[in-house]
Amino acid sequence: MGITMQSSTKDARINTRSIEKKEESDLVVALVGNPNVGKSTVFNALTGMHQHTGNWTGKTVSMASGYVKAYDRGFCLVDLPGCYSLFAHSREEEVARDFILEGNADAVIVVCDGTCLERNLILALQILCLTKNVVLCVNLLDEAKKKHIEINLKKLEELLGIPVIGTTARKKKGLSNLLRAVLKIKKRPPADVWNLPENAGRSEEETAREIVRHAEEISRTVKNEAGESAYARDRRVDRILTSKAFGFPIMFLMLLGIFWLTIEGANYPSSILSEFLFRFETPLLQFLDFLPAPLPEVLVLGAYRVTAWVVSVMLPPMAIFFPLFTLLEDLGYLPRVAFNLDKCFKKCRACGKQALTMCMGFGCNAAGVVGCRIIDSPRERLIAILTNSFVPCNGRFPFLVAVLTMFFAGSGSVLSAVGLAGFIVLGVLITLLVSYLLSVTILKGVPSSFTLELPSYRRPQIGSVIVRSVFDRTIFVLGRALVSAAPCGILIWICANVMVGDASILKICTDFLNPFASLFGLDGVILMAFILGLPANEIVLPIIVMAYMSGGTLTGMEDLIGLKALLSANGWTAVTAICTMLFSLMHWPCATTLLTVRKETGSLWWTVAAFLIPTIVGFTACFLVNTIENILL
Ligand code: GDP
Repeated sequence: MGITMQSSTKDARINTRSIEKKEESDLVVALVGNPNVGKSTVFNALTGMHQHTGNWTGKTVSMASGYVKAYDRGFCLVDLPGCYSLFAHSREEEVARDFILEGNADAVIVVCDGTCLERNLILALQILCLTKNVVLCVNLLDEAKKKHIEINLKKLEELLGIPVIGTTARKKKGLSNLLRAVLKIKKRPPADVWNLPENAGRSEEETAREIVRHAEEISRTVKNEAGESAYARDRRVDRILTSKAFGFPIMFLMLLGIFWLTIEGANYPSSILSEFLFRFETPLLQFLDFLPAPLPEVLVLGAYRVTAWVVSVMLPPMAIFFPLFTLLEDLGYLPRVAFNLDKCFKKCRACGKQALTMCMGFGCNAAGVVGCRIIDSPRERLIAILTNSFVPCNGRFPFLVAVLTMFFAGSGSVLSAVGLAGFIVLGVLITLLVSYLLSVTILKGVPSSFTLELPSYRRPQIGSVIVRSVFDRTIFVLGRALVSAAPCGILIWICANVMVGDASILKICTDFLNPFASLFGLDGVILMAFILGLPANEIVLPIIVMAYMSGGTLTGMEDLIGLKALLSANGWTAVTAICTMLFSLMHWPCATTLLTVRKETGSLWWTVAAFLIPTIVGFTACFLVNTIENILL
């Protein structure tokens, strides 16, 4: 048939090698399916691994593989990126198609969404044209049931001539049958293959149309009538959430609500935590007294103090914000955000899918950059990559929350929530503006069109939301901060206490940066913290704290109020806070993100551009704010 047969992409090749059979008799089983049908959930449940799952298209871009032993056989499972068709249009589709075409898999499990069978069957039928060793997994049966959709699995099995297994992956129902079915098909004679009738001599387009027609026909035969009206409720909700009048206000209110809960909720636990952790400082110093000087000070006033700060300032907001964000992700709200923003991105001559990669950037900019693979046009992909760091990642969020709370929450947490939401909106506006500027200058072109799937709303699983946001996000970010905070604490303590002539090394460095930094409403310490924070944005605040504390300006602080006192004593004003937040929102991406840009674009030039663009925008914004302040006052 007319599917283009190209050799494998780079990703497929790298990952194929990493699939290791433990025994010769092990079977390599590929999991394929449209995005968001529960492939990763099936994969995780079978392998006991923790691939990220979420109710939106485009989060699995490369392959993951895992091993499971069942029925005396080893199975190497490969979770392929989600794709709608094998007529490769995007990188994910290429990866999935090539993997199957090259015969890397002994069997393929096609995972389908039971609530929209006919669209999912298109891919299944395409795969059946390539290989006979297929098991169809009709997942999300619980959702289908809720929508009164009944699927006759026996009939489907008859029509397709392959094993069909019904599953509810989230509840781990029916999964063991999948592997049993894989074993069975391996024993089937080759003649037992579904074939597209009268396939020969058709063009690619005719074949595609024929497959769609077949998928509709099969779906109509195996599904009950009620299934047809099942989307009515979702569509009603979507009419409001994505409407012209309410789409944007609801989005903004949602953002506001999340920030308010985060800021309001984090205050109290933050102060309890720091009070608790700082209580150990003196006993620890006494305990370590047996060590030669200045080791106790280095360890306690350097490493321990910064670590305690990171935990008490960053942990509570993260522990509230991340579960809320994950909840929205699980519910299926993120694609609606992309839908609402689609027109704006189109107007800026970029791709609407950039709204999704931007949302991924809220988690981690490096992940957002990798996610840009869902954008087909190289021009639009580059725009999305270069502008991804304008949305603050997990590492920068707690910093923004902390500074806002300290300097602006005095007038109430609602106001600081509005402030934070304002900053995010600013990030989105800058993304749009820079995307537009890029597309009329170095990346000229016309925007391409695409289909954005609005998945059904699903009731979020509270348990897994908490587990995922705590383990995948909170602990990950905190871990990264702590790993760099302790050594950084030691380094800064040493810099602050080793004297060269009259001044400490730290003072020499920050004094050197001071005149330049003050043009932008910052000071030498802040700028140095951002420079030293290149490995991970999480450590910017600890470095600032450490550098100021080493000056001996203030000791014995309990919470954010104490921190504010420290910052104010070092010359911070509301304008310093605004400029620092602006700079946090817009400066060079962290080292991981830069390395990812280098890998994704394969070009040093674009990596340099990814470094320079946000940096220049950030310096310009800070310069403007500072200059306006100087003129006004
Ligand atoms: P993938 O894109 O195909 O890998 O999909 P994921 O595994 O990330 O799943 C997408 C969403 O569907 C997640 O929110 C899952 O928790 C949810 N999900 C997966 N399987 C089921 C299921 O059987 N029932 C329900 N209700 N939700 C499911």
